[in-house]
Amino acid sequence: MYDLLIQGARIVDGLGGPPYRADIATSKDRIAAIGPPPQAQAARVIDATGLCAAPGFIDAHTHSDLPLLADPLAQSKVRQGVTTEVIGNCGSSCAPLTGDALAGVRRNAELLELDVGWRSFGAYLERLSATGTAVNVVPQVGHNTVRAAVMGAGDEQPDTDQLSAMERCVEQAMDEGARGLSTGLYYPPGAYARTPEVVALARVAARRGGFYTSHIRSESDGLLDAVQEAAEIGRQAQLPVEIAHVKASGYRNWDKADALVDLLEQTRTQGVQLICDQYPYHASSTWLASMLPYWAQSGGGAGIAARLRDPACRRQLHQDLEANRAAWENRSGVRDGTGIMISSCPARPELQGQTVAALAASAGGSELDAVLDLLIETQCQVSCVWFSQSEEVVKRLMRLPFVAIGSDAGALSPHGLLGRRQSHPRSYGTFARVLGRYCRQDGVLSLADAVRKMTSLPATHMGLRDRGAIRVGAMADLVLFDADRVLDQATFDAPHQYATGISWVLCNGQPVIQAGEHTGALPGRVL
Ligand SMILES: [Zn+2]
Repeated sequence: MYDLLIQGARIVDGLGGPPYRADIATSKDRIAAIGPPPQAQAARVIDATGLCAAPGFIDAHTHSDLPLLADPLAQSKVRQGVTTEVIGNCGSSCAPLTGDALAGVRRNAELLELDVGWRSFGAYLERLSATGTAVNVVPQVGHNTVRAAVMGAGDEQPDTDQLSAMERCVEQAMDEGARGLSTGLYYPPGAYARTPEVVALARVAARRGGFYTSHIRSESDGLLDAVQEAAEIGRQAQLPVEIAHVKASGYRNWDKADALVDLLEQTRTQGVQLICDQYPYHASSTWLASMLPYWAQSGGGAGIAARLRDPACRRQLHQDLEANRAAWENRSGVRDGTGIMISSCPARPELQGQTVAALAASAGGSELDAVLDLLIETQCQVSCVWFSQSEEVVKRLMRLPFVAIGSDAGALSPHGLLGRRQSHPRSYGTFARVLGRYCRQDGVLSLADAVRKMTSLPATHMGLRDRGAIRVGAMADLVLFDADRVLDQATFDAPHQYATGISWVLCNGQPVIQAGEHTGALPGRVL
């Protein structure tokens, strides 16, 4: 007797094979049979006529580390068919927590009314398991967190002892459950690290069978050099590399797409196991403070705010903007404040949805002054959406067979604390948008290929052997969706909108979404 029988679905196997009609039977947490209706009885039958069945989607790049503790239902994600969240991205993880690393995580945790009771990576994962989650979790340890824990948030280079201490941090995190190392070389303090430091830490991850994911040093003017660096780290440390949210940022860099594609393909041909992840939007999202020159960004939120209060520093920033406009555009990817929309500002929620240009206009001053005042007032707790990319390049990169789908977002919910931020629509829309717009409406991808990018591609890269494909014996992470209707509903103006067209989602054999509604089940595991 099977637990569940899914009848009449069109199976999109996750491996890129042509869709075919068959039934799927599950037993406990695994797929037990596929094919013509199995003779045996099932405790429960799902009529999937007219629906596609795919492996549960793997969100290859998320920031759900704290949001999952605040709301384990992972609403914005499971309602798109996501069953696995990869966390600890862009150099930022929830452990290990000492020194400046603790202060940084504590600040973010306070916004979600979470107490930070853990210190080690293992203790964080225990907390996650004890809370329960609707999705599986693949954890990574973040270089920025490790660097802040060992050396603080400053811009120094590590001495031998500090480098050894960072290596031990990565080693311990890997031993306690991290599956890879991530960097955010665009963000301080990771941005201060030179390549050999990262290679040394990546080697530790490699020895434990881990992978390396990087928000590379530059996604704009320095894009190609930054990809070279990621490739070099993979070559030297000998581990799989994932380039995070691949893009060409800034109008001056859109014509680098050809060179970028050549470089990525060349790197793969040369034997580096390289993939990328991508979100299907032409706007990015990050901290407002990231538009400042690096010298003004060190010291964490409070440190930056204190610095910006100094009139001399302010003058220097104005002069720098006048003299080095290209460098400012390079960091932000936009020409001016019309391309920057405030998305999350807990201290001034009424500003969420406004552009920096509008903010400056109502304050009656320059855009830079408006930005600096806001950073001071909020201790830099402001993130923004940056309209910095070309839709054509987004499509071009999406077509590459080694580009997986990742939201680059934490799980949100329209309800409770997670619904208070304006956010970027990608938290709710990424997977449904690829299937509905890029696949069905624009024909950028075939359905089989789109699903492969959401399942077996990241699963194989990360060594998740039992997931990412519909086959007998695999874990029963499954999504049933209507390929004619699936669509994202979240917009930049109204991001808290669930995707439509997702009917059922099973995680480890248990329904999390049932006839379009969340069951409240928390069957997720730390993988
Ligand atoms: Zn990132």
